[in-house]
Amino acid sequence: MADLSVELTAPNGVKYTQPTGLFINNEWVKSSDGETITSINPTNESEITSVQAASPDDVDKAVAAAAKAFKDPSWRDIGGTARGDLMFKLVELIEKNKEVLATIETWDNGKPYSVALNEDLSEVSGAIKYYAGYADKIHGQVIETTPAKLAYTLREPVGVCGQIIPWNYPLAMAAWKLGPALAAGNTVVMKSAEQTPLSILFFANLIKEAGFPPGVVNILNGLGRKAGAAMAQHPDIAKIAFTGSTATGREIMKMAAGTMKNITLETGGKSPLLVFDDADLEQAVKWAHIGIMSNMGQICTATSRVLVQAGVYEKFVEEFKKTVKEVSVVGDPFAESTFQGPQVTKTQYERVLSFVESGKSEGATLISGGEPFTKVGGGKGFFISPTIFTDVKDNMKIFREEVFGPFVVISSFETEEEAVKRANDTTYGLGSAVFTRDISKAHRVARDIEAGMVWINSSNDSDFRIPFGGVKQSGIGRELGEAGLEAYTNKKAVHVNLGTML
Ligand code: NAD
Repeated sequence: MADLSVELTAPNGVKYTQPTGLFINNEWVKSSDGETITSINPTNESEITSVQAASPDDVDKAVAAAAKAFKDPSWRDIGGTARGDLMFKLVELIEKNKEVLATIETWDNGKPYSVALNEDLSEVSGAIKYYAGYADKIHGQVIETTPAKLAYTLREPVGVCGQIIPWNYPLAMAAWKLGPALAAGNTVVMKSAEQTPLSILFFANLIKEAGFPPGVVNILNGLGRKAGAAMAQHPDIAKIAFTGSTATGREIMKMAAGTMKNITLETGGKSPLLVFDDADLEQAVKWAHIGIMSNMGQICTATSRVLVQAGVYEKFVEEFKKTVKEVSVVGDPFAESTFQGPQVTKTQYERVLSFVESGKSEGATLISGGEPFTKVGGGKGFFISPTIFTDVKDNMKIFREEVFGPFVVISSFETEEEAVKRANDTTYGLGSAVFTRDISKAHRVARDIEAGMVWINSSNDSDFRIPFGGVKQSGIGRELGEAGLEAYTNKKAVHVNLGTML
């Protein structure tokens, strides 16, 4: 155990004990093949620490622990109220440790500390608290048929759930998945993203401290192609919940098909934001900025394609550029003034810059950014100047593909019909936003847009009480809200013969 944790001091001076093992059965263990993953600070490219990386054997062990816990009376028979109590206790511990959790999130991921603390950590405790309240309110139904039959449904947990999460919101994505899974009485094997394993390991200790029985939550660091793939194919995992790229989602779906797993996938997007002539332009500019530039643009629902009606196009572009200049302060994520930290990894940083080259070579107009930002980190770190392209055509790669960076494309349109058609001309269908003062138009466009979510006069103000997910190639199923809970229960139908003999 001693060598499965390390004493660290974060750049903001916070000292804490960082677990580095695999969390199986409420114990810290080493990986069976000795593989490790090194976590890099994206601000200056220094190594933070290394953690154990799960092998397929370790996945087997974690799944066995979760399968045992699923049937153990200490979890199976405690009832919803007691499950809720454990979750409320976890929320208390998250609140108590939120500064440390936010510090680790910022250090490992690069997001501004104020955002990690005030937004991500609120989301984490909020989502778990929301589902804790549900734990003893998950009911079946009595269904009327004929007088000779009593029929009812039982809402049962699905079983061992494999949860594969991404690096853009490590703790929040973990909470979105753990909340409904635990409320409904499932057990979990969760794999963090290899780019950002650290905060979830600290969080694991809180799960144990809250009193969850061994094996109910198991947390693995590991590579997607190795540990993630082993989970997606594991015969004893009943459900896979995944958030990440569409390409990986597709792979997971194929692998999960072998044992016909229940799946929910939350994948990529190229979400449109439509601004009509009659919009409150100031609001449209403000939300358009939030919608693409928050979290370094690393948001699956980022409204990365902005379509503006011709009458306000010039004005919008001018105001948007001004807002980016004023608000998108790039800097050290621990500095209070910082709005935008570094991209999470070198790979992501290079990927975003390659889209800049693509935009230039396809003839779009670069009006802001589009280059490494070198004024922080002494030339180190994965900082990019917030990037705006205008005169973007629908066939350009930068209009069609997900960039996942502080990178927006802006184009103009003439009519509502044209705007909706072009908004829908994509294989994705995750988020969307519409700005207008015309209430009929707003609802008409909301209905016509092919997306899992529409924001009217805002962008990306998601909420854990409201279903979240996509259509088309942006995903399958829903997380959050009551729909999120549905995804973690099965309905068993019970037919009772009330005495009629055959
Ligand atoms: P990814 O989809 O490959 O990784 C997400 C998670 O899936 C990680 O935990 C990873 O380990 C795991 N994974 C990867 N390959 C796997 C496999 N074969 N089987 C099982 N699990 C696997 O994402 P990435 O490579 O880190 O990022 C690439 C792009 O994905 C980004 O540029 C962005 O466009 C998109 N992305 C989207 C989200 C989102 O919130 N929807 C999050 C992260 C990345």
